[in-house]
Amino acid sequence: MGQMIYFDYNATSPVMPASRQAWLDATEQFIGNPSSPHRIGARADGALSDARERLAAILGCDPLDIVWTSGATESNNAVLHHFARTLDPKAEVWISAIEHPCVIQAAQHYFPRRRRLVPVTPDGIIDLDWLTVELSETRPGAVAVMAANNVTGVLQPWREALAICRQYQVPFFCDAVQWLGKLPAKGLGDCDFLSGCAHKFGGPRGIGFLKCPSQGRVHSLLFGGNQEEGRRPGTENVAGAISLVAALEAREALIAVGENDPRVDWRADFEGCLLGNLPGALVVGAGQRRLWNTVAALMPYMATQHRWVVKLDKLGFAVSTGSACSTGKEEPSHVLTAMGLNANDATRVLRFSSGWETTSDQWTALAEAVGKVYVDAHPITTQTAA
Ligand code: PLP
Repeated sequence: MGQMIYFDYNATSPVMPASRQAWLDATEQFIGNPSSPHRIGARADGALSDARERLAAILGCDPLDIVWTSGATESNNAVLHHFARTLDPKAEVWISAIEHPCVIQAAQHYFPRRRRLVPVTPDGIIDLDWLTVELSETRPGAVAVMAANNVTGVLQPWREALAICRQYQVPFFCDAVQWLGKLPAKGLGDCDFLSGCAHKFGGPRGIGFLKCPSQGRVHSLLFGGNQEEGRRPGTENVAGAISLVAALEAREALIAVGENDPRVDWRADFEGCLLGNLPGALVVGAGQRRLWNTVAALMPYMATQHRWVVKLDKLGFAVSTGSACSTGKEEPSHVLTAMGLNANDATRVLRFSSGWETTSDQWTALAEAVGKVYVDAHPITTQTAA
């Protein structure tokens, strides 16, 4: 494989050096099991507590509210499972229509007849008016709204949704996977339930967290141990937790000095080229507040979006479709159809997502490659237009 330029950070990101080093050091230093009774175990336990305190300081919550997990899919499933075990048997759970499948499917599993979808506007933002009106009439057992969408990058008004839920004393759950490490984490710890994972912001895969109500007895998904105060059995991933925190602290430091600002411009330049060179192209959620790294673009028709991905891959760029491809067949993304795109248009969406390591030159090279794929595929149209 030749040199590839990676534009699929929303799927996963490479491990950043500070996080890798923290993982290596921790693996060497903390060889014990945090539950073991000897001093080697106690040392590992101490390191884990330290990582918990540092994460809590970033999020603004009590360290005892944090449970380490294997990643956000587990955290999100654990939250829905907890709701199923603790809410009134008649209570509904309201989740936004654009949640990640691990929230949507877990809600479908645990609340097959008591799940309502919070609608989104055509711009991909949850409908706060709907939430305000509905909450004034009915009280669900909980509301789930993600912080930033993984397909479109559109930021969700989680602070406002949290405030409305507080007003009606309804627990609020926020999946902050795509927000964390790209925008300031401050305030997220106010959410009753919060999930995140390291591999979206330069930490390793297989480590995430769940923040749950103060020292709450979250009903564990798993059986077999008292780790994490009985909330998550299984030997803790000490090095994973330490390297998650190292990555998040490094990202927070970049955000604090405004390092994301120029990246907004690089992305805007890319979008300008895309719209200028490709007739009929559209940026999904354009004009809305979006993550600085994400572009979901409705591309000119080309048999299947998969073809765009393959052609860009051949030119050395790794990008993603906006579709769920788990069956091998392109299914339109539920995020895009919830925004009102028809199924046909939804399968025309490509997602480009950069990372902190991505340079302005790489965005420019991507724009050129996209233009080249289009020209090669549309020789006649291009000649006519010229
Ligand atoms: N939530 C969102 C918004 C995501 O983008 C993802 C991953 O794509 C997940 C949850 C699942 O995270 P993990 O890969 O850690 O299980």
